[in-house]
Amino acid sequence: MNKDWNRFNGIGMVSARTRARMIARLREQGIQDEVVLAAMNAVPRHIFLEEGLMTRAYEDTALPIGRGQTISQPWVVARMTELARSGKNLHEVLEIGTGSGYQTAILAQVAGRVYTVERIGHLVARARRHLRDLGLTNVAISHADGCVGFAETLEVDAIVVTAGTSVLPENLLKHLRPGARMVIPLADDKTRHEGEPVQHLTVVTKTGDESNNFREQKFEAVRFVPLLPGVA
Ligand code: SAH
Repeated sequence: MNKDWNRFNGIGMVSARTRARMIARLREQGIQDEVVLAAMNAVPRHIFLEEGLMTRAYEDTALPIGRGQTISQPWVVARMTELARSGKNLHEVLEIGTGSGYQTAILAQVAGRVYTVERIGHLVARARRHLRDLGLTNVAISHADGCVGFAETLEVDAIVVTAGTSVLPENLLKHLRPGARMVIPLADDKTRHEGEPVQHLTVVTKTGDESNNFREQKFEAVRFVPLLPGVA
């Protein structure tokens, strides 16, 4: 772990106690994968926030990161990582929607290599700085529309989409190895809550057999900012 991680120690936010409380809460909320809990314990969340919000870093809530976007709440980050792992080791992972880079840093703890893309240039620059401060060397960030597609040869064990959509980005599915899965907040336009379509964490698994079919499983209801086309 990089020494810089302790640079905010003065305000007590990286105290073992604060982090331990967050881990205890994640356990109560049903997170069971010890590999994920260890990753959540290892990565300081406050460094991904603006100074004025740092004291709130370990609350279980989404917080603004600028340009109308949010850092996901700790439970959501832990749950998506748990679903992406499904108890198996991950070699390569693709993340769509880097945002603050916090989910990226967690994925970088549990995977060999993480490719992450973000459509907003301002956020790419900030996330790049945060990930560098943490000394993470197994992450590649790019400024791009993650739904456009990648080099045909890219094959990953998991794709984590951290923005909500009602349309499954089907052209990403070809990047899944057999047995690999995509975790995505998928909205059902027919079920609405306060006028908004309800999103559920959804896992799309590429079956390992020769049929090359996909299996879809629906999990908890969540609320994400929208997956949008183009770069900004
Ligand atoms: N996991 C992030 C969540 C960021 S919010 C975190 O914890 O900080 C979702 C992000 O997805 C936003 O930053 C948004 O700009 C980005 N996004 C939305 N549509 C996208 C697309 N098509 N390609 C790449 N990034 C996208």
